[in-house]
Amino acid sequence: MKIFNTLSRQKEEFIPLEEGKVSMYVCGPTVYNLIHIGNARPMIVFDTARRYMEHKGYAVNYVSNFTDVDDKIIKKANEEGVDPCVISERYIEECRKDMQALNVKPATTHPKATEEIGGMIEMIQSLIDKDHAYVAKDGTVYFKTRSFKQYGKLSHKNLDDLRSGGRSLLVSGEEQKQDPLDFVLWKPKKEGEPYWESPWCEGRPGWHIECSVMSKRYLGDEIDIHAGGEDLIFPHHENEIAQSEAANDKEFAKYWMHNGFLNIDNKKMSKSEGNFFTVRDISEKYDLQVLRFFMLSAHYRSPLNFSAELMEAAKNGLDRIVTSVANLNYLLKNAADGEMSEEEQKLAEEAKAYIAQFDAAMDDDFNTADAISAIFDLVKFANTHVSENAGRAFVQAVKDEIVLLSDICGLIVDKQEEILDAQIEELIRERQEARKAKNFARADEIRDTLAAQGIILEDTREGVKWKRA
Ligand code: AMP
Ligand code: ZN
Repeated sequence: MKIFNTLSRQKEEFIPLEEGKVSMYVCGPTVYNLIHIGNARPMIVFDTARRYMEHKGYAVNYVSNFTDVDDKIIKKANEEGVDPCVISERYIEECRKDMQALNVKPATTHPKATEEIGGMIEMIQSLIDKDHAYVAKDGTVYFKTRSFKQYGKLSHKNLDDLRSGGRSLLVSGEEQKQDPLDFVLWKPKKEGEPYWESPWCEGRPGWHIECSVMSKRYLGDEIDIHAGGEDLIFPHHENEIAQSEAANDKEFAKYWMHNGFLNIDNKKMSKSEGNFFTVRDISEKYDLQVLRFFMLSAHYRSPLNFSAELMEAAKNGLDRIVTSVANLNYLLKNAADGEMSEEEQKLAEEAKAYIAQFDAAMDDDFNTADAISAIFDLVKFANTHVSENAGRAFVQAVKDEIVLLSDICGLIVDKQEEILDAQIEELIRERQEARKAKNFARADEIRDTLAAQGIILEDTREGVKWKRA
């Protein structure tokens, strides 16, 4: 499997740190509003990468944070006259609903920044102790960028160029910096802001330190893959590398993956520009599976322009697969039992070539556009070769293949399976929380709800496993 690594700007063979395992961190949203479909792009594409790696047999430990302390959250809280955590909790719940509707699997862990302040203080202190950070007069702690020799290695920026253009970076209030490229690790509280005690001042963390700390806590000092949108390459990910590598003396992440922008009229969709559609907006017009299909119809690194025409094309494309599976379900009702005929065996063997075609596309830096073409080719094969005379075993084999490949993309094409994987996992998560809170009535209720849908839960030492009956 090859992955394009932003660090080397090349496709590299993927070799995990530990055989059979993948540790992956994906920068998550700042929760002050409903997520827009630009935010949904990394969720969908990296969920698909995760599903593919799981399909290949890797145990993927997938961590994605919620940034729940931030200027925009505080601003919104002040506007509504509520505590910032009311805002962040509200939009975390809304985000979880959107993810579920997009069939994005919940992460193994979804840490929240406000619950990790202790770890941030620890890492900042160790950076100060190692002379990679300094405390300014007002208690602000800055990272000393020039102390990290490899600064710029991810974004391929030259430090001197950055510095000469740096006057604009030295905005008012930051005169205390020793170098324009130094960035904030901790800052003093302002009136009406949430704050935490620290050795330097009552205040709150800078944004970058969050991810360094959460990645370390849940995945360790060295991880396989760190991912996010390409706007995060500089400064966010560059700063994360500087902090983590200066603090841990280990290479932070081996592979850096970045998705291209979702654009509208060829301009990046963003909240600040106001040119966005929320996932909720889209759900009023389309089944969100169509949005997922639309996102996967382009390579994750390419820019993707959102338009009504492309959404219609995505809808038609997805319909073709769904219709084919519905036809196969219809044929299955009356198909004859028994072994495959010789002709069917030969065809079933031929059909396996589409799995190889799919895998080859995904092995090439998760080329979902080509992978979907393989599904279309398989659908064409099904429409051509599976007729009313086909035996059950053959029909089932072809259907299973289409469903398998679609499932790796997180696309639900068998409408008989009404309950989505992500819904099931979300319910399992809720059940675990109910149990933790000793709300056994709710936990049992969830088990029963799932059982009624034919989902069987098994509590194992590694966690809860589930299967369809
Ligand atoms: P934010 O809430 O702005 O921190 O963004 C959360 C995630 O969404 C990050 O990985 C961003 O890079 C990504 N993102 C934001 N806008 C877009 C966009 N228009 N296209 C693709 N990814 C985006
Ligand atoms: Zn991050």
